[in-house]
Amino acid sequence: MANLKEIKATLEARLEELLGRASEIEENLSSPGSQDWEENATESEDDEVMAKLGDVTEQEIHEIRLALSRIASGNYGTCTSCGSQISIERLKAIPSTNTCVRCAG
Ligand SMILES: [Zn+2]
Repeated sequence: MANLKEIKATLEARLEELLGRASEIEENLSSPGSQDWEENATESEDDEVMAKLGDVTEQEIHEIRLALSRIASGNYGTCTSCGSQISIERLKAIPSTNTCVRCAG
């Protein structure tokens, strides 16, 4: 497929970025809390936000890894739901997608 190399490079760059962010989140979450009660309360709120951000990041990492493995096995660009070809415009917009625009509905 044309542009596949370009898309693969985009996915790999994105994966690098996400892995970097995930380890930052990890560090933030595991940092020991302050002794001060009020600061602790604020920190656990921050932790919740970070944990959510972490979930989203993990999810995207997972999707990108799947996309890269589909590229490796030659299934990339095929809708996993109906089996039709996903348009290049859609793949460029959302490189980690595995469904066509109809199935994503
Ligand atoms: Zn489909």
